Amino acid sequence: MRHASDGQILAYLDDELGSAQRSEVAVHLSACGTCVANLKQYEAISAEFREALSWLDVEVPLTAAQQRFAAARRVEKAEPGATVAPLRPARVLHGFGRSGLLKAAALAALLAGAASAAIPGSPVREWVEAALGLATVDVPVVEPVQTPAQPTPPAVAPATQEPVPDVLSRVPPERNRVEVKLREVEGLVVVRYVQEPGAAIRSANVDANHFSSPGVIEAGRLGSGDVYVDIQANVLEARVEVNGELYLLKRGDNTQTFAPIQERTSTRFSFPPRS
Ligand SMILES: [Zn+2]
Repeated sequence: MRHASDGQILAYLDDELGSAQRSEVAVHLSACGTCVANLKQYEAISAEFREALSWLDVEVPLTAAQQRFAAARRVEKAEPGATVAPLRPARVLHGFGRSGLLKAAALAALLAGAASAAIPGSPVREWVEAALGLATVDVPVVEPVQTPAQPTPPAVAPATQEPVPDVLSRVPPERNRVEVKLREVEGLVVVRYVQEPGAAIRSANVDANHFSSPGVIEAGRLGSGDVYVDIQANVLEARVEVNGELYLLKRGDNTQTFAPIQERTSTRFSFPPRS
C-alpha cells in the first residue's frame, strides 16, 4: 500500500478500522519509518490532550464552550458591571506548549475535513475539540453583578375565606408599635399578621367592651367565642396579652410566644383556651 493517510492513522489509533484494513495498515507500519513517525506524532498529541484534559478535570466540547462564550458575552452586554474571566487559559496554553498547539491546530483542521467524517465519535477528535475549545475559545466564567440585598417583604396571612368575627376595635400603630390586651377570654385566641395598619380585635360577643389609647387596644368580657387579633405584619413591635399574661411578642421579623400554642405558621398563631 501507499503511505497511510492521516485519517487511516487516526482511525488506527482509535481502533476504528475493520480487521482487514487494520492488518493492512499494521503491515505497512512494520515496514515504513515515515508512517511510524507520523503515528508516533499523533500518539504523542493524543497523550498531550489526554493529559491536558485530565488536568482540567472538565470535559468541554467546542460547541458547549462556544455557547457559554456567547451567553457570557450577552451577559456582559446586558450587565455592564459583569466581569467575564477566561477559564484558566494560561494553564491550558502551558499544558500544550507552542508546538503542541500548532499540532493541535493542524489536527483540528484535518479532523474538520474529510477525515473527520471517516471517524465519527473518535475519542481523539473529542479530545481535540475539547482541548481546542478551551485553548482557543476563552471559556468564560461569568461573575454576576452583585446587587444589594432587598429587604424581604413581611409575611402576611393569605386572604383566606376563614369566617372571622367582625372588628370590635381597631387602633393605628404608635411609633410603629401596637399593644393588644384581651380580658375575660374563655375561647380560642388567634393572632394573625395582616396587611391592614395597626391592630384590631375581632369578636362576635355582643357583651364585649373595649378601650383604646395611642397604639393600645383593650377589650374585656370577651367570653367563650373565638377572638381574633390582627396585627400589621411589618410593625416594629407588637405585644398581645391575654387575661393579664403575655402570649405573644413580635419584634421585627421575630415572634416569641409564651403560652401553649395549638397551631402556628409564620403569619398565624392560635392559642387554645386555658383552664
Ligand atoms: Zn508509509
